[in-house]
Amino acid sequence: MISVKEALKIVEENAFIPKVSEVSLLESVGKVLAENITADRDFPPFNRVAMDGIAIAQTLDSFKIETIQYAGEAQKSLQNPENCMEVMTGAVLPSGCNTVIRYEDIEIQEVDGVKVAKISIPLSEISQGQNVHRQGSDRKMGDILLQKGLKISPSEIAVMASVGKASVKVEIPPKVAVISTGDELVEITANPLPYQIRMSNSYMLSAALDRVGVKANLFHLTDDKEELFIKLQEILANHDILLLSGGVSAGKKDFVPEILANLGVKKLFHKVAQKPGKPFWFGKTEEGKTVFALPGNPVSTFLCFCKYFLERRNEVVVLDKDVFFKPNLTYFVPVKTYFQDGKLMATPFEGSGSADFANLTDCDGFVELPAESQVFKKGEVFEFVRFRF
Ligand code: AMP
Ligand code: MG
Repeated sequence: MISVKEALKIVEENAFIPKVSEVSLLESVGKVLAENITADRDFPPFNRVAMDGIAIAQTLDSFKIETIQYAGEAQKSLQNPENCMEVMTGAVLPSGCNTVIRYEDIEIQEVDGVKVAKISIPLSEISQGQNVHRQGSDRKMGDILLQKGLKISPSEIAVMASVGKASVKVEIPPKVAVISTGDELVEITANPLPYQIRMSNSYMLSAALDRVGVKANLFHLTDDKEELFIKLQEILANHDILLLSGGVSAGKKDFVPEILANLGVKKLFHKVAQKPGKPFWFGKTEEGKTVFALPGNPVSTFLCFCKYFLERRNEVVVLDKDVFFKPNLTYFVPVKTYFQDGKLMATPFEGSGSADFANLTDCDGFVELPAESQVFKKGEVFEFVRFRF
């Protein structure tokens, strides 16, 4: 049996690698960027006027206005350094000028048909270079603006538009199947017979996937070898990632590992030294499709999904109550969290084990208590697997 750490490493090293496609800029929002985006010129590309007002070469009381530099015009040149030029936000700073004084701080008068700007604030309040957004001060040409792998939101769209990316490489979202197995399971709309239960795992997993932007297809299969083989073969052909629940433990009808092997899915591990979720099975096909066969108990299913499938957030919590746990297994306990003195505290809810999923609704995640210890003291810090976000 392998440790939680080893299992996680194997899952990470064998993650499904999405294919890449090129889409139009607007189609890329919400997708994962599959190329680095670099600056095709300096940001800003010229010394940009940042306020409507006048541009000057030196600080004087008043200036004759030579002309106006509008946004969208080629750079003009100040003829006499004792004069000024009116400038608009977004314009190129005229050559010969270095500072902009906003209209609010000047008065414009006409003297003998010549327009003159008079400074109306103490000259000491003017600092050289003010209200000019210097060329390249945000980013230099060639700098990486966006890293491959990030999720594209409207602000990334703005950056890509500004560097002229009309089309962009994105990852094609993987096709995910969520499959419940078990003869005792019925649809949620059904009236279960006394010995049946409504399936909840596939809805839980599907909802959790939805929260991270993945739409899954849902299936239910019975504990029948032939049905499992035929249906799983078909599902495998049409999906990139399979999330199964149930049928991986030691029961007489737990056929999932055997069937997956028969279908050519290579087992990378079966059984992890953890509670809950010990029977977790993970494998991969030759084409790189991944199969997570999770134990069917809802808390086990959920823990395995959160710990091994969702992206890690590297959070820790402070235990607020002692916990004892003898077996040489990593112990994941549902916890309710709260802040105290700037620290994230965790109250454990041990409940009645891996089938007790009702108490998950009172909790925010699992605290991860390492296999090496048996006593976990109030005040100690442990890793946290968050599921409420
Ligand atoms: P298994 O892993 O197939 O041995 O199932 C372990 C326990 O989890 C059994 O009590 C099952 O009834 C229950 N279980 C399995 N699959 C589901 C599911 N999709 N929804 C709710 N409970 C399930
Ligand atoms: Mg079962």
